[in-house]
Amino acid sequence: MTTLNPEWLRDGYPHIWRPYSQMKTALPPLPVVATSGARITLADGRELVDGIASWWTACHGYNHPHIRDAVRRQLDCMPHVMFGGLAHEPAYILAQRLAALLPGDLSRVFFSDSGSVAVEVAMKMAIQFGLNRGDRGRTKILAFRGGYHGDTLATMAVCDPEEGMHAMFKGVLPEQIIADLPVDDASRAGFEALLARDADKIAAILVEPLVQGAGGMLFHAPEVLVTLRKAATRHGILLIFDEIFTGFGRTGSLFACGDAVVPDIVTLSKALTGGTMALAATVASSKVFDAFWDEAPGHALMHGPTFMANPLACAAANASLYLFETEPRLAQVAAISQTMRSGLDVLRGRPGIKDVRVLGAIGVVEMDRIDDLEALRARFVAAGVWVRPFRTIIYLTPALTISGEELGLLVAAVVTIATQAGASP
Ligand SMILES: *Cc1c(COP(=O)(O)O)cnc(C)c1O
Repeated sequence: MTTLNPEWLRDGYPHIWRPYSQMKTALPPLPVVATSGARITLADGRELVDGIASWWTACHGYNHPHIRDAVRRQLDCMPHVMFGGLAHEPAYILAQRLAALLPGDLSRVFFSDSGSVAVEVAMKMAIQFGLNRGDRGRTKILAFRGGYHGDTLATMAVCDPEEGMHAMFKGVLPEQIIADLPVDDASRAGFEALLARDADKIAAILVEPLVQGAGGMLFHAPEVLVTLRKAATRHGILLIFDEIFTGFGRTGSLFACGDAVVPDIVTLSKALTGGTMALAATVASSKVFDAFWDEAPGHALMHGPTFMANPLACAAANASLYLFETEPRLAQVAAISQTMRSGLDVLRGRPGIKDVRVLGAIGVVEMDRIDDLEALRARFVAAGVWVRPFRTIIYLTPALTISGEELGLLVAAVVTIATQAGASP
């Protein structure tokens, strides 16, 4: 292995288990010493323009002073206190604000500390919704090919079967129902047939609205969500939107759900705290909550993460929402969209390029194939940008506050490197 610098990297590396990587063959991770705006500073002094905002979290860029101040004030008075039997202002304010921002009567907020857990809570709510009403048959979740909902065992079972490694973990994962998204006549017919057969087994339909993110940055039309809403209502099934990727402006509106399509449960995380702290929320409609609200202790939702509604994280989220209210984030998304659209368009039709697509602040270049991901990733770093292609996808999901000049660097790097890679993968 290449020498690891600085010392902490070298000495700590034998004790770290890295995410999503075969450590034996992977290149070493890049040591980061600071972040600021849309930039990452490495230990050797190099600066990278960040094209993915730390897995889509840092929507206001790194180190936004307003969020830092809010967290610092909270740190001085109360970094954490348990949420069982106790209450605190940051969480109660945040719950009200989320309820006000979300459409319809999505109004009851359950906090947790990661997206996967928020999705598990949503699934648990949906299944217990039936149980509490005396319907013991609805125990399955219907999810979609190409979807991604987390890495825990229960969420792997609702991911795309291949990406969720359903075969490898057969017998361990709960068996759920995975269908094709109803995007055309054939898949709609298949979807309707499935529901005609199995609807009474299904507690909820779970979908990432508009964009299936980690499953391949696949876009679908808003009408698909209307189809899902109508089908769910017709069959007495709950509809869950996993907005962990799409939430907070990424697709061009604050959320993918809106007055046109209101799900029964929404999950939020990723950009919820402006990319500063771990926090997630599962927000239910009053219809869902009402099935839990009675005298029977057994009808309560039995869930409560230790760090539930951590006050520092809630303070960060409140500060992040304030920035959405006071700074022109959605206009910035529209401008980013325009720049990516016009900048990436030249790739269309070039050798090795399968598709180019842009929605909101998501720019995607899909290659026919990428033979050496690690080498491709290294080329981006050498070009001074932080872009992490996966499978056949090169994508940009920058901070919504990125400057025109920085975005220009990102787009230029993607165009150059995708062109080279397409010509000689
Ligand atoms: C990232 C993501 C998750 C999982 O969130 P974690 O915080 O990594 O557990 C779930 N759903 C979607 C749509 C995501 O993008």
